[in-house]
Amino acid sequence: MKIGRFAPSPTGPLHMGSLITALASYLDIKAKKGLWLIRIDDLDPPRTVPGSIQVILESLFAHGLVSDRGVLYQSQNLVKYKKYLAKLLPHIYSCQCSRKILARHTIYPGTCRHKELSTEDVALRIKVPNINISFNDQIKGTKITNLQQEIGDFIVVRRDKLFSYNLATACDDGDQGITDILRGEDLFSATYPQIFLMNMLKLKTPQYLHIPVLSNLNGKKLSKQTGAPPIKDFEAVKNLIDAMNFLGLQVPNHIKTITSIIEWGINNWSATNIPKQFEIYS
Ligand code: GLU
Repeated sequence: MKIGRFAPSPTGPLHMGSLITALASYLDIKAKKGLWLIRIDDLDPPRTVPGSIQVILESLFAHGLVSDRGVLYQSQNLVKYKKYLAKLLPHIYSCQCSRKILARHTIYPGTCRHKELSTEDVALRIKVPNINISFNDQIKGTKITNLQQEIGDFIVVRRDKLFSYNLATACDDGDQGITDILRGEDLFSATYPQIFLMNMLKLKTPQYLHIPVLSNLNGKKLSKQTGAPPIKDFEAVKNLIDAMNFLGLQVPNHIKTITSIIEWGINNWSATNIPKQFEIYS
């Protein structure tokens, strides 16, 4: 059984960009007769906007997008991340580099690799070996990167003690048996560290499909941080038709209800229809 997922961070209400990703992941997995899961990536309390989880779930529901197996919350999985982290410990070291030092490098130069630092007030990094990681993106084809040269030792636990996005995502995607990840292109390069972690943890890796992200008139990715307007649930039909348009699907005029639009989308879904770039959203 194929399993897909949509994993929003609760940093604000859904906007058109996140609806497109949610819808695309839904249609893609349903076209494969699979299950679609919702996971709330609420590991970062400083970024969490109170009330937004409810708003996101209500919006998805209003647009006909409902999780097949209840909703998983990353904040409830801390014990699991700890267990996985323990397996990685031989490869992990403490890093006390300041933001200022880190800002000088795009790839972490391994400054703390050979220091024996305490575990207080430090981030934890994983030593990456000099190997290539490759995967086959369903749109972009086979992609390959050298972990040491292009990613570097990356953070698995942040200095504020929060598990990193990459660690939590790798553990959950592996643990939930996700077979198909469809998400925005902005997360493309995170795929390499995530695959590396899944390999280290002996978790099965999914297949990936990264779709374009929606930009506003200033060329900025539409996001809650760049002030993207929330979608209005009472305009669900129009929103779904617009989202389908971005994905290269023209819903025929006579199809006018949420259920029938989604059904039509599933029957007509093809990843090859997705344009290389989305039109600007204004
Ligand atoms: N929670 C992440 C976000 O909202 C997405 C996680 C993922 O799809 O891997 O950007």
